[in-house]
Amino acid sequence: MIRKPLALACAIAAAPAIAETPQVATDIAPVHSLVAMVMGDLGTPDLIVTPGASPHTYALRPSQARALQNADLVVWVGPELTPWLSKPLASLSDSASELALLKVDGLELLEFRDHFEGAEGEADHGHDAHDHEEHEHDGHDHADHDHDDHDHADHDHDEHDHEEHNHDEHAEHDHAQGGHHHEGTDPHAWLDPEIARAWLAAIAAELAELDPDNADTYATNAASADKALEELESRMTGELESLGSIEFVTLHDAFQYFEHRFDVHSTGAVSLGDAADPGPARLTQFRERVTAGGLSCAFAEPQFDTRLLDAMLDGQGIEIKTLDPLGSALQPGPALYPQLLEEMADTIVSCAKS
Ligand SMILES: [Zn+2]
Repeated sequence: MIRKPLALACAIAAAPAIAETPQVATDIAPVHSLVAMVMGDLGTPDLIVTPGASPHTYALRPSQARALQNADLVVWVGPELTPWLSKPLASLSDSASELALLKVDGLELLEFRDHFEGAEGEADHGHDAHDHEEHEHDGHDHADHDHDDHDHADHDHDEHDHEEHNHDEHAEHDHAQGGHHHEGTDPHAWLDPEIARAWLAAIAAELAELDPDNADTYATNAASADKALEELESRMTGELESLGSIEFVTLHDAFQYFEHRFDVHSTGAVSLGDAADPGPARLTQFRERVTAGGLSCAFAEPQFDTRLLDAMLDGQGIEIKTLDPLGSALQPGPALYPQLLEEMADTIVSCAKS
């Protein structure tokens, strides 16, 4: 129907104001996918961590800093996964609402683990991969020094004496006995679809608070996404439980939540869950695990260099496959998360058959 100019003007004036869909920024692609499922056609969230990059250590690009600055809502896993994001979040988007997903109530969260805990010659490592912003600890013994209340940003530890430092704020690191123990919550919780489903509801509730006009749409989208994940989870459970017990190792210890949910078990990882570079003792233990035999395969991840894993498996005839906890090769969007889970199940099934 073609409207006359005056009638058209009146019609536009009378129409209810369309609520501004909140601008949402998300940390990693799996979280981006869950938020996109809930937002549906109402909008597309921004993705901060570029696909293919590791979320454990990351440097924000100006465009990503702007996405944070413009956000009405920031949805992230939490500082346990992206410690570097805490500061920019605090400074850049203090007007935005924030949803730290690991804080959602009622989740079955797991602690960091160490496959080699208690093994002979306790694991150690170089510390250069985790939240010590641009500083390195290469080539020195940790046992005889403390680290306390000094700013770590942009200084290199190599060229100065350690005696006078103290690092208590890194409580999750235990420097005793020369080893590295990463305590606290393992942040890779999105790999448990039960947790992801709980997050859908929390995301819908947060969006409804910011945009009450579309609350029903968010709730409906979350409910249908929840149903789809429930069906996927039961299908995957069927596929994986028929595998029997297969033994595999990984590059970093990222898969505990998936293993816990689907009853498959890794028996070793080159790096702990924080993806920090392993030290000589840990590499020795990993190599011992590999040469002990019984492994069906080893899994590399696109975010990390596989040369170390290649070297550790040298001469063992163990196939290396790719198990990607972040869906780096997938198109960001609502379909990414289910595809990521399906690909992980398919890869583990193919490992059992190889
Ligand atoms: Zn990780």
